Amino acid sequence: MSLLTLDHVSRIYAMRRGWLGRASAVQAVEAVSLTVQPGRTLGVVGESGCGKSTTGRLALGLEVPDAGTVQFAGQAMPPPNSAAWRTLRARMQLVPQDPLGALDRRLSVARQIAEPLTIHGIGDAGERADRVAMLLQDVGLRADQAARYPHALSGGQRQRVVLARALATGPDLLVCDEPVSALDVSIQAQIVNLLVDLQAQRQIGMLFISHDLRVIRQISHDVAVMYLGRVIERGDPDAVFADPAHPYAQALVAAIPGGRGGRRAVLQGDPPNPADRPTGCAFHPRCPAAVSRCRAEVPVLKPRPGDGRLVACHVAQGESELGLAA
Ligand code: SF4
Repeated sequence: MSLLTLDHVSRIYAMRRGWLGRASAVQAVEAVSLTVQPGRTLGVVGESGCGKSTTGRLALGLEVPDAGTVQFAGQAMPPPNSAAWRTLRARMQLVPQDPLGALDRRLSVARQIAEPLTIHGIGDAGERADRVAMLLQDVGLRADQAARYPHALSGGQRQRVVLARALATGPDLLVCDEPVSALDVSIQAQIVNLLVDLQAQRQIGMLFISHDLRVIRQISHDVAVMYLGRVIERGDPDAVFADPAHPYAQALVAAIPGGRGGRRAVLQGDPPNPADRPTGCAFHPRCPAAVSRCRAEVPVLKPRPGDGRLVACHVAQGESELGLAA
């Protein structure tokens, strides 16, 4: 059984431009279907504004989908802040991007790591103190750092505190939203390696959100590429990064520093305004491979003939003419 299942999940926000502007609907996430298995990592990658963070919030039940369903361990996700949801939150935790923002500057490291145990009524004071000591060790912090405050720690140490706090209740699922993007490259590798080790020890399922393809490739067992609220390619990370099928995924891979930039066109232009979504394939104004069908028809994510790669692209599917194979 999957740990987490998103089935055709959509999320729409109402947006108003200026004081008197008319409200318009912004489709942040559209018909996204994803699964996370115990002990495995699904990497979700895409540019800023592609809907990956909203997907993470939907996965944690912090937001309610406007369409589709979210299931955690075979159960429908309860409404946010309901008693059932608060109980479930002990089993699914968020690791956010900005550790300083996520931590309370007035509380010691030990107090912050113990906080989820207090909230969920786990253990007595002595048991919580023992658990905090173990968690510090598990994330590579020293016992004497328990008494420190966030401002006295480095960025990497703060992210280790955030991680220890997320692990305190023994979660089955971690949703990591750009957890290393605020860190130096050398520290990023340490935190990614730590997450890999902790996952192997505890069989935690992870939804790992990042704009950084190198990090996604390093940590993921499965990868989903998102563009303007939709998953446009999904598969094994080695296969997707070695031979991306969707023109957007090709451009992302080409843009990896030191990667394959010489072989493929690098992505031009900015993503379109989600409130003014292009017709047909949302990528068509930027796509070097676009054909007339792309402006008229939204491509569906489905297995590509031949190798079964999941891709939402008329041309990659060999269906570039309306109703005809290319
Ligand atoms: Fe490009 Fe058309 Fe494929 Fe969209 S459907 S990615 S516009 S070729």
